[in-house]
Amino acid sequence: MPNLSPSKIVCVGRNYAAHAKELGNDVPKEPLIFLKPPSSIVRDGESIRLPTVSKQVEYEGEIGVIIGKRLFKSGVDEARGAVAGIVAANDVTARDLQKSDGQWTRAKGFDTFCALGKIGEVPADLSTLTVTSRVNGTVRQQGRASDMVFDIPAILSFISGIMTLEPGDLVLTGTPDGVGTLAPGDVVEVEIAGVSRVSNPVTSAA
Ligand code: MG
Repeated sequence: MPNLSPSKIVCVGRNYAAHAKELGNDVPKEPLIFLKPPSSIVRDGESIRLPTVSKQVEYEGEIGVIIGKRLFKSGVDEARGAVAGIVAANDVTARDLQKSDGQWTRAKGFDTFCALGKIGEVPADLSTLTVTSRVNGTVRQQGRASDMVFDIPAILSFISGIMTLEPGDLVLTGTPDGVGTLAPGDVVEVEIAGVSRVSNPVTSAA
């Protein structure tokens, strides 16, 4: 299994129609991508810290893809062959800052805003992957890769036409509907059934 020290984390926004709708957005005609810094990574059991500058920090449970081979202007078949691992991911987002800033670097980039589980095996059929988010044990999100607007090979192929994907890079493939806010004392969990899970306590920033 590859390790988890990506040179970059590339994320896809609005990749499930029901989630785009819940935030009042249209489904994009091409994958809508943004970056999170590697400094935002925390692992299973570590705290997600809520920055005081935001009043609306939300969880986004996602299917994370670990790249195993360099991808540069790759087609979908080559891209599919480069998937080396699957990881449960929480694309934690300061929703109020995402709206007020217009661009998303601050809203998505705080320390602890990318929670990652252990890397799991890649299934034969990527479309069978599912993602479930729970807050304090209550299910809040349930998504299936088969419901993605752009599937995983299409996403990787698209990104590779913009920036070379290196072995170890991480791609977050978008969140299903059901996002909601986190408060100090919560425990938030993202699970990709049979593959990977990550659970994190939520605390105020020190
Ligand atoms: Mg997201």
